[in-house]
Amino acid sequence: MTSIPLHWQILAGMLLGAIAGLMLSASVGQRRSSLPEDRLPAGVRAVEFFDSTNRIEIRQVAQDGTVRHWVVDPSGRQPHSFASLESLRQAEPQRFQDFQRYGRSWARWVGDGSRRLGGLFLRMLQMVAVPLIVTSLVTGVLGLDRAEQLGRMFLGTLAYFIATTLLAILVGLLMVNLIRPGMHGSQQTAFEGEATMIAGNLAEILLTQLEAMIPINPFAALAEGHFLSIISFSLLFGIFTLLVGGRPAEVLRPLFEAALAVLMSMTMAIIRICPAGVLFLMLYATATQGWEVFRSLAWYMTTVLAALGVHALVILPMIVWFIGRKHPGRFARAMSPALLTAFSSASSNSTLPLTLSNVQQRAGISHRVGSFVLPLGATINMDGTAIYQAVAVVYIGQLHHGFNLPLAQQIIVMFTALLASIGTAGIPHAGLVMMVIILQSVGLPIEMQGIILAVDRVLDMCRTGVNVWSDACGCTVIERLQSTSLPSTVQP
Ligand code: ASP
Repeated sequence: MTSIPLHWQILAGMLLGAIAGLMLSASVGQRRSSLPEDRLPAGVRAVEFFDSTNRIEIRQVAQDGTVRHWVVDPSGRQPHSFASLESLRQAEPQRFQDFQRYGRSWARWVGDGSRRLGGLFLRMLQMVAVPLIVTSLVTGVLGLDRAEQLGRMFLGTLAYFIATTLLAILVGLLMVNLIRPGMHGSQQTAFEGEATMIAGNLAEILLTQLEAMIPINPFAALAEGHFLSIISFSLLFGIFTLLVGGRPAEVLRPLFEAALAVLMSMTMAIIRICPAGVLFLMLYATATQGWEVFRSLAWYMTTVLAALGVHALVILPMIVWFIGRKHPGRFARAMSPALLTAFSSASSNSTLPLTLSNVQQRAGISHRVGSFVLPLGATINMDGTAIYQAVAVVYIGQLHHGFNLPLAQQIIVMFTALLASIGTAGIPHAGLVMMVIILQSVGLPIEMQGIILAVDRVLDMCRTGVNVWSDACGCTVIERLQSTSLPSTVQP
C-alpha cells in the first residue's frame, strides 16, 4: 500500500467508503419502528419512528388520540422541521435518545459509527492546526530577513497579495452563488435568504471580527483555538521580532523554523492516514444520505474548478499582461515545471525551490524580487486556497441550511477567507484545516467538512497550482514596480 501514491490511496478509500455506504443506504437505509410499550411515557399510546436517508419522522399518539410530529428534514421544506439530528438533540433530548436507540436504520447506525471514527482523523488535523499556524506565520515573516526590507517592496507585495486574494474570493463567491452546488437535487427550497437567519448588522459583525484580531490574552486565544486572534498575534510577533532584530531575532528564527519542521512532519504523518479517514467519512456521508451527496459533490467540484479556472486563466493573466507587462502565455510556459510540481505535490512549500529557479532562470525576473516575493507568497498568498475555502463554506452553508447564506454572512466569509488563506501553510490539505475559522465565523458545524473531504485531494492539487501561479504572477508586478531592477523583457 505504501508504494501507491497518496492521492490514489485516498481515491481508493473514497470509492470503497462510498460504495459500501451506498449499498447500505439502498439496502438498509429505511426503517419503520416503534418505541417498546414499557418505554412509553405516561399518557402516550404509541411512538413511531420512520427513518429514511433524507428524512426522519417521529410520531407520537397520546391516549386521547392527539398526534404530535417531529420531523428532521435538512431541505427545510417543512415549516417546523429540524435542519439536522443535532438540532433535534438540542431541542428534544429524550426524543433524540429514543430515536437513536429504537428508530435508527442500520445504515444510519453504521454511518454514525463511521462518523466517530472519521472524526478521529479530523481531530488530529485540528490538533496540529494552531501550532502550525503560529510557526508557519512567524517563520514566513521572519523570512523577510531584515526589518529594512519592510519598505516599498513589502507594501507592494502585500497589496498585490491582498488584492488578488480578494479578487479570487469574489470569483469564488460569484460562482458558488450562480451555480449553487448545495442546492441541486431535492434540496432546493423556496424561502432562501429569509428571516430564518439573522442577517445581522454588518458593521457590528465586522467590528466583532476586528476585536477578535486583538486578543486580550493571546494564550487564552491559543488555548481556545481562536484562529483570527492567533493569526494577528503571530503576524505582529513576527514583524516585531524583525524590528527588534539582533540577538532576539537570531534566537527566535531557528526556534520557530525547527518547530515548523517538526509540525510539518507531524501533519504529513497525519495525512498518511487520510485514506482511512476518507473511507469512514465517505461511508458516513453516503450511508446516511444516499446518492444525494454525490449529485451535490459533482456540482461542488464543478464550482471550485470553474472559479479556479476563471482566476488562473483570465484574471491573473490580465494582471501579468497589463501590470507586469509580460506575455502571459510565455510566462506560464516558463513557469510550467513549477506549476506541474505544485499540481502533483499539492504543496506550495515543496514547490518553492523550483518556483524560485523558474522565475529567475526561465522567466527573467530578478533574484531580488523572486527571493523576496516567492517565500512570502508560498506562506501567505493563497488565491486558489481562498477560492476553495469560500466556495466550500458557502456550499456547506447551502447544504446545512437548505438555502443560500445571506449577504452579510457571505461578507464575513470573504473577510475570514482572506485571513484563513493567509494563515494556511503551504502543505497538502492545510486549506481544509484552516477552513474551520470560516465555518466557525458563520456558525456552521465543522463535522460537515467530512462531506467535502472525499474530493479534497483533487481540489488541493488544482488550488496549489493556482497558489503558485499567483505567486509567480506577483513577481512580474513587483518587478515592474521596482523599475530600477532588471528590465521587464519577455524571455522564452
Ligand atoms: N496545499 C495548498 C498549498 O500548499 C494549501 C491548501 O491546502 O490549500 O498551497
